[in-house]
Amino acid sequence: MSEMQLPSRIQPVQHPVFSAFGVEVFMKRDDEIHPVISGNKWRKLIYNFEALNEQGKTGVLTFGGAFSNHLAATAYAAHVHGVPMVAVVRGDEDVTNPTLDFIAKTGAEIKRISRASYAQKNDAEFIANLEKLYPNFLIIPEGGANLAGVRGCIDIMKEVDGDFDLIACPMGSATTFSGLVLGGRQPSFLGFPAVKGGAYLSGHVHNFMHAAKRSKRLASSFTPPAWQLCTDYHFGGFGKVKPELIQFMNVFWEETGIPLDPVYTGKMMFGLVDLIKKGEIKTGQNVLAIHTGGLQGIKGMNERLRKKNLEIAYEEAVAAAFTFPRL
Ligand SMILES: *Cc1c(COP(=O)(O)O)cnc(C)c1O
Repeated sequence: MSEMQLPSRIQPVQHPVFSAFGVEVFMKRDDEIHPVISGNKWRKLIYNFEALNEQGKTGVLTFGGAFSNHLAATAYAAHVHGVPMVAVVRGDEDVTNPTLDFIAKTGAEIKRISRASYAQKNDAEFIANLEKLYPNFLIIPEGGANLAGVRGCIDIMKEVDGDFDLIACPMGSATTFSGLVLGGRQPSFLGFPAVKGGAYLSGHVHNFMHAAKRSKRLASSFTPPAWQLCTDYHFGGFGKVKPELIQFMNVFWEETGIPLDPVYTGKMMFGLVDLIKKGEIKTGQNVLAIHTGGLQGIKGMNERLRKKNLEIAYEEAVAAAFTFPRL
């Protein structure tokens, strides 16, 4: 996987709210790692593919929705590694879209299953059946949510050598956040779930920490730093947005030149700015926010938003950097 931007840069963010309240904010630009295997998807796949080679697996199978960044990233990585890939897609309706077209072009087999079957994707029996159908394939959970994924995200903190009071990160499956916390070396961590009712994700963080403790590769005597979740900034649920979020993202782009995605990083930065305004993040603090990527989703989101006379203003500006390569 060539053309990697690693380590990703850490960029100071100039924003009127940050300067008015005397809080210094930096962003770690993991969105710039790779045009397809962007952000935390690259982090979560790197050791999964290492495991694939070590275990002599002859293919890879993973799960996702019809617009999944994780499926696109995994399909591309499988293509580059020259191994067959099966993309298990949620929903058996015969839809297509640029993400699924790209996955098909990588040579991956697209296997659409009903939403009811998809709901069983982590059950032992369901997995055993897939193992029979695809012997010797590495099966990666949805979103790369396994210990190998966590391990890749621990590496993010190895690239951070400054002193920060707070590390902020968006959350889907909590894999990235768990890796950051396990990477430690900074006093406190704040996770922003992109889903409604995201408090359950703290259970995922605990599970990953226990699993990491038991793992030979990750075990350490280290005491985890303080961490907590801020569940207020979901904007109605996963993949849902509100006009104030889109307006915030457009102004943030004008002020800082940093493009945010509507599903994850936009919600996190909205939350961070709001917490600073409310004085919950105090003057004099140094904050590092992780830009986990997701920019390729802007085009599809804009198709939905334009029907409501809304638009993410920088679709064109990011399009050049975040196009799927021709295969
Ligand atoms: C997938 C994704 C996440 C979610 O990461 P988890 O490790 O599942 O919590 C966050 N941000 C972006 C941009 C993503 O694409």
